[in-house]
Amino acid sequence: MTTTCADKSCPFLDDFMNDLNKRNPHQPEFIQAVQEVVVSLGPVLQKKPEYVKTNILGRLVEPERIIQFRVPWVDDSGNVQVNKGYRVEFNSAIGPYKGGLRFHPSVDLSILKFLGFEQIFKNSLTTLPMGGGKGGADFDPKGKSDGEVMRFCQSFMSELFRHIGHNTDIPAGDIGVGGREIGYLFGQYKRLKNEFVGVMTGRDINWGGSKIRPEATGYGSVYFAEEMLSTRNESMDGKKCLVSGSGNVAQFTTEKINQLGGKVLTMSDSGGFIHDPEGISNEKLEFVMDLKNNKRGRISAYADAFTSATYHERDYAVATNPMWSIEADCAFPSATQNEIIEDDAKHLMNGGITLVSEGANMPSTPEAQEVFVEKGILYGPAKAANAGGVAVSGLEMSQASGRLFWTREEVDAKLRAIMKTIHEQCVEASEEFDCVGNYNDGANIAGFMKVADAMLDQGII
Ligand code: NDP
Repeated sequence: MTTTCADKSCPFLDDFMNDLNKRNPHQPEFIQAVQEVVVSLGPVLQKKPEYVKTNILGRLVEPERIIQFRVPWVDDSGNVQVNKGYRVEFNSAIGPYKGGLRFHPSVDLSILKFLGFEQIFKNSLTTLPMGGGKGGADFDPKGKSDGEVMRFCQSFMSELFRHIGHNTDIPAGDIGVGGREIGYLFGQYKRLKNEFVGVMTGRDINWGGSKIRPEATGYGSVYFAEEMLSTRNESMDGKKCLVSGSGNVAQFTTEKINQLGGKVLTMSDSGGFIHDPEGISNEKLEFVMDLKNNKRGRISAYADAFTSATYHERDYAVATNPMWSIEADCAFPSATQNEIIEDDAKHLMNGGITLVSEGANMPSTPEAQEVFVEKGILYGPAKAANAGGVAVSGLEMSQASGRLFWTREEVDAKLRAIMKTIHEQCVEASEEFDCVGNYNDGANIAGFMKVADAMLDQGII
């Protein structure tokens, strides 16, 4: 069992959460994300009363700015469609707003505020000067033609361009926003502003992108897992792994696990999961990448192509996901928020899992996290484990402004070093605040203190 900072109760935080709930009705994901951070902060506030005196937390949970706008576009049949577009510019205490854009039907202010809030601490942990932001639209690129996606992206950027800039706010990709969408968005920005600047990251290598950016979140999550394992004199070599999702993060998590000698047994999408006991080799992964990135197909096609695998359709009437019951050593949730609930977490423990590294944002519910902490497994929370993506975005910004071009090896080495530093910061903070082995508390405390100190320095703004 691991010690938690939550063991030390703090009445101030109870009042704070009650007030937050009242002031942000109907935003459950945002409330959950804030709760997950403040639960670690009791001892910090006791040690640093100036944070309470200057109401750092009260200011931190209120975004500096939220922009909401209409996104009209014309579909292939000539019908006029309209979506909701958003950008949440959450906190710029340590640098310009930085965070992805998500295009998914579930996008609303609660989802974007949760993602933007998490991003503040994640960016802080990277050691790079980046504030937190997030944006997106309730647009579903699935099933849309390239022309429709382009017209949507152009309309979205026709409003967003007024609010962003390479020194102000630098968006990137997230769910539903990959290389194709970044291209259309960047193209429209350039056309409207008549300037070629690093206003978006995740760009193609031919027009200002960084090597390793597509790989960075997945690779980083596995590097973080390696760091955690090294504290127990173990490595990824020979480890059987469950990966969820089959998008950007899942693909490169699988690639890195293979490179380090592990074996990936599962991948999924919102329709269901495939289980391949022989492992998803590099050749099979190539099939998945072509299926998802070029053909925009469903993961079920994997089981048609490879007889070693079975496909299991997801039954949403059942709360738990049977994928998390498969016996393995490590789990890399890399699809979406709240994809591991308490019972899933228990099933993971019964199946022999000793490490969870979160590639997705907030994939484990608070109850599931409690199971991991209670059992004392190596649990790498999202804001630390998936920070590799935004870290390489930061490196992309440095290369763009310095007109530099680092090799694949150079960027990979920097990514690895950053993930190591993030791990060290989590460990050091958990030692200082007496919750050793708890990466969740460590990440929250280390990420928070840097931002809080910057806010103290900059006065009441
Ligand atoms: P992609 O759009 O490339 O892939 C998302 C994957 O997750 C798809 O397989 C998708 O299946 C599945 N998925 C999405 N929503 C759901 C849902 N509601 N239920 C079940 N499955 C779902 O996104 P990314 O790989 O970029 O992002 C995955 C996660 O990683 C997200 O939580 C994101 O915020 C996080 N992240 C991403 C970073 C990046 O650099 N891309 C950086 C840091 C975090 P389907 O196709 O059926 O929808």
